[in-house]
Amino acid sequence: MSDNESIPRVDLGILAKVPKWRFYSHLFPSKVGAKPAWLSLKPLPTVDNLKCGICSEVCIFLLQIYSPLIESDDSFHRTIFVFICRNPNCSLPNDSRNIVVLRSCLPRENRFYSYIPPDYDSETANRSAPSECYYQSLCALCGCVGQKKCGSCQRIYYCCKSHQVLDWKEGHKEECGVLQIGRNDNTIEEGAKSFETELTKSNFSVEELEKMAFSKSDRTFENFKKIVKVHPEQMIRYSRKGTPLWITDENQLNVDDVPNCQYCGSRRVFEFQIMPHLVYKLGLDSIGKSLDWGVISIFTCEKSCTDTSNNYLREFAYKQDVTN
Ligand SMILES: [Zn+2]
Ligand SMILES: [Zn+2]
Ligand SMILES: [Zn+2]
Ligand SMILES: [Zn+2]
Repeated sequence: MSDNESIPRVDLGILAKVPKWRFYSHLFPSKVGAKPAWLSLKPLPTVDNLKCGICSEVCIFLLQIYSPLIESDDSFHRTIFVFICRNPNCSLPNDSRNIVVLRSCLPRENRFYSYIPPDYDSETANRSAPSECYYQSLCALCGCVGQKKCGSCQRIYYCCKSHQVLDWKEGHKEECGVLQIGRNDNTIEEGAKSFETELTKSNFSVEELEKMAFSKSDRTFENFKKIVKVHPEQMIRYSRKGTPLWITDENQLNVDDVPNCQYCGSRRVFEFQIMPHLVYKLGLDSIGKSLDWGVISIFTCEKSCTDTSNNYLREFAYKQDVTN
């Protein structure tokens, strides 16, 4: 997904099922669901970096978009991660405090990945991949840093008590006894009842969208529906330095109200938006109720600044809901 100064291009993210090995971090995936494929492998964000702004529980991974800025040495590799609170009570109209957005960037020459691009087509070539688990233990539920061991099997870790409880209910209860007898760690991976879906892209120009007619009532919503109809499978609209496709006339965010980057002070620019039907398509029961949104727009530091002591920088989300 590239950056184009002249015409803001819109790339549409659609969902495709691909083999699990394609989600290794060193293949720089864009993906939805299951656990994050971290870009910078150490240090990872702490539990405190991932807390819901409403209930303070640890948010779980929703999706990540690999969007390198080739012209910038420090952002040769660049991934935006979006996390959301599982608690449906934290999903309030036009309130994005239950969403955490993190941006990770790496130069082409870095300590984790080869300077030479990986072989994207061969599973065998990708078997011994650098992985975040070489550096730290990860929560079996959410894939974030986890330091609390399961007391019974002593084989897996959690980031917090509530993820341990959830994972117990969602399957570790059965798995735990088996792990105690001692099976290898691959079993955990294969046994995980997770879906993983790659985001691929198709694109068309904004001019094409502008040709479409408007209607009277809620002009924005009519427009939104028309645009979505053209490519109903779109889950992500990516257009760095473009504009969000608002869903309704009300509660549109004024660009001046987007807070500047908290690290370097630069303005933040629109980067992509998550479309409302993403979750319905996935049948993501566990977080489905948390996600009855309109659209979530993600704004990121225009300079894509980096900080050597922190590889996961906070960015800004804005949720616009349709309210009656
Ligand atoms: Zn919450
Ligand atoms: Zn966790
Ligand atoms: Zn256990
Ligand atoms: Zn910045």
